[in-house]
Amino acid sequence: MDKKLIYCDNAATTKVSKKVLDAMLPYFTEEYGNASSIYMLGQSAAKALLKARETVAKAIGAKTHEIFFTSGGSEADNWAIKGMALNGSKSGKKHIITSVFEHHAVLHTCEFLEKQGYEITYLPVDEKGLVNPDDVKNAIRDDTCLVTIMFANNEIGTIQPIKEIGEICKEKKVPFHTDAVQAVGNVEIDVKALNIDMLSLSGHKIHAPKGVGALYVRGGISLPNLIHGGAQEKNKRAGTENLASIVGLAQAITDAVQNIKEKQEKVSKRRDRLIDGILKIQETRLNGDREKRLCGNVNISIRGVEGESLLLMLDMYGILASSGSACTSGSLDPSHVLLSIGLPHETAHGSLRLSISEETTDEDIDYILETIPKVVDRLRSMSPLWERICKNEGITGTI
Ligand SMILES: *Cc1c(COP(=O)(O)O)cnc(C)c1O
Repeated sequence: MDKKLIYCDNAATTKVSKKVLDAMLPYFTEEYGNASSIYMLGQSAAKALLKARETVAKAIGAKTHEIFFTSGGSEADNWAIKGMALNGSKSGKKHIITSVFEHHAVLHTCEFLEKQGYEITYLPVDEKGLVNPDDVKNAIRDDTCLVTIMFANNEIGTIQPIKEIGEICKEKKVPFHTDAVQAVGNVEIDVKALNIDMLSLSGHKIHAPKGVGALYVRGGISLPNLIHGGAQEKNKRAGTENLASIVGLAQAITDAVQNIKEKQEKVSKRRDRLIDGILKIQETRLNGDREKRLCGNVNISIRGVEGESLLLMLDMYGILASSGSACTSGSLDPSHVLLSIGLPHETAHGSLRLSISEETTDEDIDYILETIPKVVDRLRSMSPLWERICKNEGITGTI
């Protein structure tokens, strides 16, 4: 039997596109040389590496020598933050500014540094999931060595005021890093116009393979190594280059950036239809700002249902989504992102994230909108929590 499968978890990872796979394949077979080798096969690899670097740089308005390939977004975040922390400590600057709702690659790195004697300011976000640039301005001190604020949030999709934050950091002469893993390919990015000093990106969120990413480091910033060894990446990041994946990343970023306006228009229409449709169910709320939002992100809290049960039921209907509780880690803690925008624990637990892509069709949206109310109704009919909510608040109990 052909089971229906609608993939709505593109913020978790994406499928490698046909174009990306085709671009990569020769680098596993004929073009397997090491870019550091002197013979032709090696030099051909070196050429492909340079071309990929030029392509990635161009896609974000950077210069070729400002791009360093990494094993993904997490490594790029770690490198930028730990590197600037190390630089800062040399001149007694051990204060870092970030926000409470960053990805764990940033948050856990900051927590690690806190244990090493650094002071971290975790800026709050408002109920719409936005950082206030004035808060950044007010938090900067003489001993601040880095500001790191994400470009777009991975759970609620909110796009931060990066240009304003960049201007403030430039004026105050504090380096500014942004985790743009969710933004690249979805939002137009010009690192120079936005005054970004460092930017992390990842391949597998934009239809390239897992395990490849890049860090942009503005020329003039001297970032110490995180990984020592060979002379790869201008002596800055050791390890034989993952050339096939790097070529894949370059192809993916080219494709993503080429049609960005068209994609935004097309995907956000479908996103809005999803949002409006799901919000018709009573006792639901949209998480994150409605306008300043990634074109593919839907995040809705549904009272009286439990996130995990919802995901399992949707899976039976062939809809693959994600929720606001950290089920993957085996913990029952609700997401720090949903708590940061002021949701009570109970509401955060009943949250649903659908992250659609340009491959999601209108028929898919119809099917999702038919299925979700059925599933919610079913779960609520079995939920003592929903029964209590209805009784206490005089809700009739039907969707
Ligand atoms: C996925 C993601 C990361 C981690 O990237 P990897 O390539 O999986 O290491 C970091 N930050 C954000 C915002 C992400 O969505």
